[in-house]
Amino acid sequence: MPKVLEGRTALVTGASSGIGQAVAVALAQAGARVAVNHSSGGESAARAARVAQDIVQAGGQAIALQADVSKEDEVQALFARAEAEHGPLDILVNNAGIEQPSAIEDMTLAQWQRVIDVNLTGQFLCAREAARRFIARGTPPEGVRALGAMIFMSSVHEVIPWAFQANYAASKGGINLLMRSLAQELAPRRIRVNSIAPGAIRTPINREAWDTPQAMNDLLKLIPYGRIGEPDDIGRAAVWLASDDADYVTGTTLFVDGGMTLYPEFRGAG
Ligand code: NAD
Repeated sequence: MPKVLEGRTALVTGASSGIGQAVAVALAQAGARVAVNHSSGGESAARAARVAQDIVQAGGQAIALQADVSKEDEVQALFARAEAEHGPLDILVNNAGIEQPSAIEDMTLAQWQRVIDVNLTGQFLCAREAARRFIARGTPPEGVRALGAMIFMSSVHEVIPWAFQANYAASKGGINLLMRSLAQELAPRRIRVNSIAPGAIRTPINREAWDTPQAMNDLLKLIPYGRIGEPDDIGRAAVWLASDDADYVTGTTLFVDGGMTLYPEFRGAG
């Protein structure tokens, strides 16, 4: 991979698995020093440590850092540690996210609140912290066009309603206008803000949608391009959006979904 992010620093939230892991690896392959955030101790700490170790063994630079993105004090400490380790931040990938499906009549306030806290408030807290740090820096590093780049991990469910996942769809719909509002506000400061909206990507969050032949068959009916997405598909999109190749791109949602948002039921002329 060309080193289009050589010398930059990046922070990827929720990078101990799935899409976040692939994005962290792709940014590192493109030359960035990467902070690999994970949510809590135990299993996710061990996984994040492995992600960072694999990057380092492949010749890149990475560290694993714990923080729950829904907690203000932990987010502030996360950014401080990332910058202490790697220097001023250039790229934030706001990736951490969860699902807690439920029929609306059974959805508890706690289920609603936790999904909004992680998926929407967490992205706000990290975006605010990144904006503060980009603005404090004042000028882009030598040879770099933008002062900073933020990428929000949205979903096709920022536009496709999702029965039994009203909390998740509401969080992703919220990301759309959070991202666009920040893009508008921060463009004069040369900070670019965009989203990636993945379709169905093969990760632990949606295992039941792809891990049996029947489930995969049903899933593929929703994907005109005829295959499930892989985490690397999102990694490559994130490298492009973070790089100067996308310097004139801000306030955009890049759908990486194999056509899932193209009303697939109409493929045979409706
Ligand atoms: P995943 O479950 O593998 O990854 C989610 C990551 O977020 C995990 O590493 C988890 O530990 C972390 N996380 C959860 N709560 C956290 C918290 N409070 N603080 C910090 N980290 C936390 O699933 P994934 O598919 O890789 O999901 C990544 C993002 O992509 C999510 O925002 C998800 O909504 C989005 N997405 C995924 C798909 C898909 O098909 N897999 C589709 C659209 C959008």
